[in-house]
Amino acid sequence: MTEVEPGVSGGRPRIMWFRRDLRLGDLPALVRAAEGAGGVVGLFVADPMLLSQSARSRRLAAAVEALDRSMAGALLVRAGDPASVVGEVAAEVGATEVHISADCAPYGRRRDADVAAALDRGGRRLVATGSSYAISPGRVTKADGTPYRVFTPFYRAWRDHGWPPPPGSPVGPDRPIGSPPDVPEVGWIRLPGLGSAGLLRHVAHLDCPEPTTGPEGVGEAAALRRWADFCSGDLADYATLRDRADLAGTSRLSAHLRFGEIHPRTLLRDLSRFGDAPGAEAFRREIAFREFYADVLWHHPRSATSSLDRRFDDHMVYRNGPTADADFEAWCEGRTGFPFVDAGMRQLLYEGWMHNRVRMVVASFLVKDLHLPWWRGARWFMSRLRDGDLASNAAGWQWTAGCGTDAAPFHRIFNPVSQGKRFDPDGDYVRRYVPELRGLPGSAAHEPWLHPLLAPDYPPRIVDHAAERLAALDRHRQMRTAAEDS
Ligand SMILES: Cc1cc2nc3c(=O)[nH]c(=O)nc-3n(C[C@H](O)[C@H](O)[C@H](O)COP(=O)(O)OP(=O)(O)OC[C@H]3O[C@@H](n4cnc5c(N)ncnc54)[C@H](O)[C@@H]3O)c2cc1C
Repeated sequence: MTEVEPGVSGGRPRIMWFRRDLRLGDLPALVRAAEGAGGVVGLFVADPMLLSQSARSRRLAAAVEALDRSMAGALLVRAGDPASVVGEVAAEVGATEVHISADCAPYGRRRDADVAAALDRGGRRLVATGSSYAISPGRVTKADGTPYRVFTPFYRAWRDHGWPPPPGSPVGPDRPIGSPPDVPEVGWIRLPGLGSAGLLRHVAHLDCPEPTTGPEGVGEAAALRRWADFCSGDLADYATLRDRADLAGTSRLSAHLRFGEIHPRTLLRDLSRFGDAPGAEAFRREIAFREFYADVLWHHPRSATSSLDRRFDDHMVYRNGPTADADFEAWCEGRTGFPFVDAGMRQLLYEGWMHNRVRMVVASFLVKDLHLPWWRGARWFMSRLRDGDLASNAAGWQWTAGCGTDAAPFHRIFNPVSQGKRFDPDGDYVRRYVPELRGLPGSAAHEPWLHPLLAPDYPPRIVDHAAERLAALDRHRQMRTAAEDS
């Protein structure tokens, strides 16, 4: 990595504006920015819109700091509205091009349109190359050009479409998984700014007790290490063990992917070495789910907050009022009296992450046992998850609530006890997160009401699951009738 004075090497400097791509390797936008002869300003804009009170903001700040470290402190951090800040920095260094990876979520699309218009007025260009996905949302369509609504045909078309290899990285068996990224030779230009430590200070006041990192660490090097470990270990059994909440059998790459510390193209290239082995194939499908949900949000930006099946918003009756609020609080704090649900919600509180199977079970519980609207739970998840991603979160919730594209049928209602016994057979997961249950051996931890003397401090169940299941089915029937009559 070299450093240059603005303009000294002849050409005009270019700006690489980092957003959801906080890495240096496998980054086509940076490769393009570095093609100019005048050096590159690496810019991160601390946009108040993105520094909300959430675990995600703290994780973001840590990711920016890691990126800055990998650039030997050359990352320029400025605070403010990107529509003004990006143009100001470009004017300061005389850049005519600002390079980005496209942001495909609704806010990012609007923001980038505003920034492009502002730059255009100053005779400058916003140049997008690549995105956070192997295939950018909107590209995989049916033969008639319409989007897929069902995952499996999307998956087939997505695989057939294919994706380019990571730029600048030789493809082939000689290059070890998790090796350091191929960083293009970039002449970084340093400018005075907040510095990434300033950004951390900026979000440090947030009322958010979660750690900024999980066991998977933060930053590009940590992401590559995590991926290499996973490939040489748990990937082989991923197809059979990924649903087990008590085992650390999943990749824990979600926050790394969320902040672009690793790109799915890198993962897919490495997966191809395992062919169609069950673990690799199952993992490829999960990556494709992430891409499918981004595609859904791309075509239906309103689905971030509204049900794709409009009947649910127009005709479903949800509970509200003080008792509904009290139940919501019990759910948020992991005090529902259902061990598997409470363990998941406490894992979310303590770690800012939750196992996928448990996300489905706690979401089902909120919607179908407590009869609360999915978007209340989705908002709570977004405030607490370090990997909070609008597309995957809204789609995960809508899938569970039965109102999304390709959703689970509403009548498939998870039983929180049998799910717990199946996916945490020895009760290790619930005992890890719910200390009140530690006196109960094995799977008895899933039914503390059968052994009240062994778990005296654990709260009683706030609902009767069998009764609420019937109530949920009834609400669904009423919704369908109301929709037909309207
Ligand atoms: C209600 C609900 C809310 C969710 N909210 C989010 C969210 O905000 N952010 C998020 O990244 N994922 C979300 N998911 C999907 C999934 O739970 C997480 O991606 C996964 O648990 C992350 O752990 P991992 O990296 O170890 O996953 P692995 O099992 O190792 O999977 C590898 C990667 O594939 C992707 N992936 C796996 N499962 C899914 C899935 N069902 N949908 C979309 N992508 C998937 C993720 O990027 C993940 O990192 C949600 C699921 C549900 C049911």
